[in-house]
Amino acid sequence: MPTFPERLQQLDVNERALLTLLRYNGPATRQRLQEKTGLSSSSMHRLTGSLEQNGLISQMGADLSGGGRRPALYGIGKNAGLLVGVELSRTEVRILFCRPDLEPVEQIRFPLDAGYGPDETADKISCCMHEAMARQGVLPADIPGIGLGTVGSLDCARGIIRSSTGFLHEGWQDVPISGMLSERLDIPVHMDNGANLAVLAERLAGSGQGCGTLVCIHLGMGIRTGILSRGEILRFIGEQPDAFGHLSVDLNGTLCSCGNHGCMETFATLPAMAEILSKNTNAEKRMDIQSVGDLLETIDRQDEQHQHDRLQGGTRIGTKTIAQGDIHTAHPDNTTGLEMAARLDRAAAAFGVGLVNLVRMTNTRLVILSGPLVRRSGRFYRTAVASAQRLLQTNPEKPVRFERDGHMGEWAIATGAAAYVLDLFLKKKDGAS
Ligand SMILES: [Zn+2]
Repeated sequence: MPTFPERLQQLDVNERALLTLLRYNGPATRQRLQEKTGLSSSSMHRLTGSLEQNGLISQMGADLSGGGRRPALYGIGKNAGLLVGVELSRTEVRILFCRPDLEPVEQIRFPLDAGYGPDETADKISCCMHEAMARQGVLPADIPGIGLGTVGSLDCARGIIRSSTGFLHEGWQDVPISGMLSERLDIPVHMDNGANLAVLAERLAGSGQGCGTLVCIHLGMGIRTGILSRGEILRFIGEQPDAFGHLSVDLNGTLCSCGNHGCMETFATLPAMAEILSKNTNAEKRMDIQSVGDLLETIDRQDEQHQHDRLQGGTRIGTKTIAQGDIHTAHPDNTTGLEMAARLDRAAAAFGVGLVNLVRMTNTRLVILSGPLVRRSGRFYRTAVASAQRLLQTNPEKPVRFERDGHMGEWAIATGAAAYVLDLFLKKKDGAS
């Protein structure tokens, strides 16, 4: 049998359309696929027959709806071949081998400490992948491509990380990382920014299944947003994943790194939190990022304590301060927990206003918020969502769901990267290579 990449390469336009339907809409009967594609019954028989023969689709039981003879359900062939997705972030690398339906087969991760410049990182990824391919019994020629999700200012078409701050090792400027990897592995590499790939993963195999439009927002050192509309990743000019982060919601707000005032990034990132939680204090030195995360968790614990006190009928609500020990480790002054919680709430509410703008603009019914800020602060998440939901009440017939961290969690980008390779094969225009 031809290799997995060869079988993908040989697909005609109808076969690609059918596989795309099954990937985005889940298993379906021939009848349903005919309705969706407008193809005749005989064409659909021929198509499903050839795709089933080469393993790209398989029968997944029978459709149980309706009576009488139960027609077969077709879905993406689980054993057609392996997909590979890599996430390269500032602090770690994740490598995923998965089936075409994105079910994981093998997951590898390693931290990127100060010893990892571009060459060392490419060597290590290549080494991990060679070992994994040996374990899985596949050769480079069996892998249709490597999806690479990464951060910073990117030239995705040429596979270059133009600039990225925050890597612990120097030298991550103008790095042709896709070329470095494909040279070492003899497999083509396709780069995109991580936010776009995370939203693709959630749409295909996570919380966003069945959604026409889906928005994923990652809150960490910055704000990265991925928007999927009708199966297509929305791309803005310049491909900046942080465009939403620089939407201003307060003209008199804090000065942002982009030169404007009151951008979303001045309310909803870890560095912004360091500043917001320190304001009006005499603290000379700003909190480091680890301390901000710890402090956010302390505020959450305080909330839980208040909740507990309330249930116990206690009277300390609203007056309790964070335990002194926590303040000394996490916060440089004696600001009470209540004051800090109020500042956190104001920032989260402002972020909620921006969220509503994005919801209205994209008409999405689902927003997934993820990243370290959301992961470490339940209060920030709840307040932002409550603020957004209050403003969305004016349109009650279109309810919007918010989710904390989605379904794919920390493997979202690597999973989306793997899925992206298949997208490139299936969505290519006829005549294009
Ligand atoms: Zn800005």
